[in-house]
Amino acid sequence: AEIERRARSRGPGRTADGHPIALLANIGSARDLTGEVEGVGLFRTELLYLDRSDPPSHEEQVTAYRDVFAALPGSKIVVRTLDAGADKPLPFLRLADEPNPALGIRGLRVARQTPSVLTTQLAAIAAAAAATDADVWVMAPMVATAAEAAAFTESCREHGLPTAGVMIEVPAAALCASQVLCHADFLSVGTNDLSQYTFAADRMCGDLADLLDPWQPALIALLASCAAAGVEAGKPVGVCGESAADPDFALVLAGLGITSLSMAPRSIPAVRESLAAHTLDECRRIAEAVLAAPSPEAARAAAAGASPQLR
Ligand code: PEP
Ligand code: MG
Repeated sequence: AEIERRARSRGPGRTADGHPIALLANIGSARDLTGEVEGVGLFRTELLYLDRSDPPSHEEQVTAYRDVFAALPGSKIVVRTLDAGADKPLPFLRLADEPNPALGIRGLRVARQTPSVLTTQLAAIAAAAAATDADVWVMAPMVATAAEAAAFTESCREHGLPTAGVMIEVPAAALCASQVLCHADFLSVGTNDLSQYTFAADRMCGDLADLLDPWQPALIALLASCAAAGVEAGKPVGVCGESAADPDFALVLAGLGITSLSMAPRSIPAVRESLAAHTLDECRRIAEAVLAAPSPEAARAAAAGASPQLR
């Protein structure tokens, strides 16, 4: 049993019957890469842009991206383009003061006003990708419509980046996941922001933590919509919010048809063990039971009832 347990705590993510669910890392720089990871599911690039009066140059960006790509030869690395906005004000963006920064010019929306920030970044990612053999995917934050996805994918193609996707963080995009996915190679659901915008509850507000619970039925319904769109289109749909790091919730996500889970590297071993202890059919039964639950408490109980190991 001990040998079995140890075998389960290493290697690529898979269910007990061998169905792969890639377990990827959320990082902000090469320094965050610790432990055994299959790749990077969310490379947050904000770090490069913070606390400075000018944007990072092409060369500076190429160096930073190449450091990460070279650390994981041959692996998949999903780079997220700059997710800045009025709540993380960058002086060189010259964004106006906004009464509701979370609902303003942030994420991909910055490209409406200052397109050069995005095109410079895409050019640098492409140059760094060309200098290594990493499998570089690129995705945009805060996409709300299929048209925004189409415009982003076109920009990526123009820069010779072959795999372009979008984050699903806005309920509108989750509700129209199939249409959005028509214009992207993959989706990655950011459940932190998707919860915030679905429940109109600031993600930093501890008093509203009950609304931001990933087991909330409305969030799970939106995740199901995204996963179903991926299954239908035969395209990958991952999750890179905090919810992916919950070993029990990971079973629900796998059962819905989510193809990869990205989290802080330290959270990977527990999720790997949980998946390895359940077959894909068991995950599907758990997801089905959870989808019928009217509250987070009922959803957790339904998952436990559908899995002998969770009881
Ligand atoms: C998210 O919103 O779930 C996400 C992964 O992005 P961030 O936490 O960087 O906003
Ligand atoms: Mg986000």
